[in-house]
Amino acid sequence: MRCRSYARGRGDVGSGQRVSLRDKTTQSLQETRCPLPSGTAFRAFYILPMLSVTFLGTSAARPTVERNVSAMALVREGETLLFECGEGTQRQMMRYGVSFALSEIFFTHFHADHFLGVIGLIRTLGLQTRTDPMRLYGPKGAKKILGQAIQLGVERVPFNVDVIEVKPGEKIRERGNGKGETYDIHVFATEHGGGSVGYALREHERPGRFDPEKARAAGVPEGPLWGKLQKGETVELADGQTVSAEGIVGAKRPGRLIVFTGDTRPCAGVVDAAQGADLLIHEATFGEEEKERAKETGHSTAREAAQVALAAKARRLVLSHVSARYSISADELVKEAREVFKETVVAKDGMTIEVPFPD
Ligand SMILES: [Zn+2]
Ligand SMILES: [Zn+2]
Repeated sequence: MRCRSYARGRGDVGSGQRVSLRDKTTQSLQETRCPLPSGTAFRAFYILPMLSVTFLGTSAARPTVERNVSAMALVREGETLLFECGEGTQRQMMRYGVSFALSEIFFTHFHADHFLGVIGLIRTLGLQTRTDPMRLYGPKGAKKILGQAIQLGVERVPFNVDVIEVKPGEKIRERGNGKGETYDIHVFATEHGGGSVGYALREHERPGRFDPEKARAAGVPEGPLWGKLQKGETVELADGQTVSAEGIVGAKRPGRLIVFTGDTRPCAGVVDAAQGADLLIHEATFGEEEKERAKETGHSTAREAAQVALAAKARRLVLSHVSARYSISADELVKEAREVFKETVVAKDGMTIEVPFPD
């Protein structure tokens, strides 16, 4: 029997290319989702949320034949969050099987290659007779710019669109969308001018490791009571005896951390936000030969992005937002980055990366 989260996740992501930096990812994913004993009764009570990111646009500044401008979908347990929405993003979503049933879009700054796609996307959602509200997050200026964008070319948007201006240091989920998610989105400052920000999705702590042998030894039968123990609850057995989770369930374990920088110079703010990140998605517009240009234009080189990943002790690094000159082959960027940080790939449009729990 497969875990339900596995089947659902596959359906959401569609036909885009799936990659991992680890050869054994497919195997480790299976283990991550069904890490517990084979009893199907218990597995029904314990499902680890799957998490993946799909790159919809990986080109800097302008689209090329191979790459569209910035956008990335993060899918966590059936919920889709969109980061940036460059021109043409809605078509990329169709192409790569990303759900249109999303409620939130996060913008890092308002250069045209990062937000023009929201105009058409909102219009299409209106044509689909959507009634659910949409929330758009962005730094200072979001209300003015996105407010204009969503009114453009359409008489009436038939659902509520809230534009929320965010500041570095804020936690978006604390302001809440009322769904009681098990993660927060942290806003951090980046260095690209105009109050640009990045976003970090940090999952809350998850339960400690469950020891089935100890549960059996304590006389707790496999089934719903195991699920209660896993949640830290004390359970009552048929004979009236009570068994606490202590000693059967280990210490709480950290959740996953995914960090999305948007456009930026390499900076301490990103290093701080990405400490121990499971996945750091950092812009790498240029190669070493254009490092002066990177500095002048508020961007990073691949090597600089790798230095940030190294300093943050991130597990994996994905480079995106590459200059048109690397559109066909970004091998040079990968090579330069890997000299500093081995676990690096460069994103391509349609690439999906799954992020398993590290333990
Ligand atoms: Zn850009
Ligand atoms: Zn920019």
